[in-house]
Amino acid sequence: MPNPSHIDADVVIVGAGLSGMIAARTVLAAGLTPVVLEADDRVGGRILTEEVIPGLPLELGAQWIGDTHERMFRLAAELGVQTFPQYEDGETSYELGDSGVLRENDFHARFAGELAELERVLRRLDEMAAEVPVEAPWLAPHAAEWDVITAGTWYDNQGLSPVARTLLEICTVGILAVPTVEVSFLHLLFTIQTCGVTSELFAESEGGAQTTRFVGGTSEIPRRLAALITDHIVLKAPVQLIEHTADSVTVHCRGGLVARGRRVIVAISPTLAGRIMYDPPLSGVRDQLTQRLPNGSAMKAFFVYDEPFWRADGFNGQLISDIGPARMSNDTCIPGNDHGVILLFLEGDQARTFGRLPQAERRAALTAELVRHYGGKAAKPELYVDGEWSDRQWTRGCYNANHGPHVWTCYGQALSAPIGAIHWASTDTATYWSAYMEGAVDAGERAAQAVIAELAG
Ligand SMILES: Cc1cc2nc3c(=O)[nH]c(=O)nc-3n(C[C@H](O)[C@H](O)[C@H](O)COP(=O)(O)OP(=O)(O)OC[C@H]3O[C@@H](n4cnc5c(N)ncnc54)[C@H](O)[C@@H]3O)c2cc1C
Repeated sequence: MPNPSHIDADVVIVGAGLSGMIAARTVLAAGLTPVVLEADDRVGGRILTEEVIPGLPLELGAQWIGDTHERMFRLAAELGVQTFPQYEDGETSYELGDSGVLRENDFHARFAGELAELERVLRRLDEMAAEVPVEAPWLAPHAAEWDVITAGTWYDNQGLSPVARTLLEICTVGILAVPTVEVSFLHLLFTIQTCGVTSELFAESEGGAQTTRFVGGTSEIPRRLAALITDHIVLKAPVQLIEHTADSVTVHCRGGLVARGRRVIVAISPTLAGRIMYDPPLSGVRDQLTQRLPNGSAMKAFFVYDEPFWRADGFNGQLISDIGPARMSNDTCIPGNDHGVILLFLEGDQARTFGRLPQAERRAALTAELVRHYGGKAAKPELYVDGEWSDRQWTRGCYNANHGPHVWTCYGQALSAPIGAIHWASTDTATYWSAYMEGAVDAGERAAQAVIAELAG
């Protein structure tokens, strides 16, 4: 839609990420008129595919779905986006403590006891997470106790050996993108419970969150979704002020665009939602909540080679390391394309440290790591691409918002509760696979249904 100066709609939606666009489509299907105001010059938000080499999409943002991401499978089928399985054949390469680089089978043989310890703790986490009601984590029987300690403190108290504790940290930071000392233990349990069990959250295969990718790149999903509602999306329209009464909203964008409606759905991360002005001002509890929900820190770095040489050596392209800089990696080749692609993750403090270096220094440090694991061929990529998210004005970090200690129990009720005509979406407010694309769809549908019900009443 070209940028007009004034729009009337039933429902104004802030943000054309997956959540906002799903909300718009749901509202439209109910016979109401939405308008989506998007700050950026593109749709998709935390989904961002770059195709530097034709036919080789690189996912700077969201990449995978897992077997229980039923909304995403349904959406992809509806939009005609095909999927393909993540490559998994071969061994993972490990590098923990002073063990040196070890192939998976050798690592498992040497650290069988430590891996059993880890398994024990994961089972305990599943049992505790099962006590957390995802709609209201503050009502968990032990909420007060669990919300005043960090996940890191709880981990430290499990009597784990250094290797088991390190593995637990690596896999948790791989989900939350912040060190476990920054996250409430209750929030960790909530996250596990929204995803099912730890095996689904942490595993890379067999029912994990990273089993399946999209043909043509993840951005095909928002691109095709946007095409269905193109007359209802305005790009380059950053929302700055929301005036609201019990039954009307007037939404002001930078540049002068004003959208009027009966409801607004704010489908952006809570910390960004807190940067919008509201008139009248929102309650103190809502504002104090958004002051306390920082986004994590993560970036992805891609090494593209002329072939996936590690496969011939029996590796699956995954590494786990506490030497780093990257703690984890994946084979992200595209079936039918000859190139070999390895994706390295910088998360939490690794993203903060290495993300601030000049790209050449970051690339050199990551190259050295790949060479340690996969040999000299890794030193000569054809292409290197990486992507930072905290510098992006309309995201400011990823993968999602994390609740520090005492936030769920003191402020959690304000996370998704509507305030008059204002409703909240974004994956950060989801109760199913919160933080994932699946959660973005879940939250967008929930907010849209609530608005539809109100406007029908
Ligand atoms: C590096 C990375 C890797 C990830 N990997 C995965 C993965 O493998 N699998 C998975 O399921 N999920 C993954 N995720 C998470 C997934 O991308 C998100 O859960 C999902 O895309 C969030 O969608 P959303 O609509 O809730 O929010 P967003 O995508 O953040 O959308 C919000 C939109 O609002 C816009 N906006 C912000 N402020 C304003 C304003 N003031 N006015 C107007 N518009 C505004 C933004 O530009 C954006 O388009 C990853 C994310 C990142 C960044």
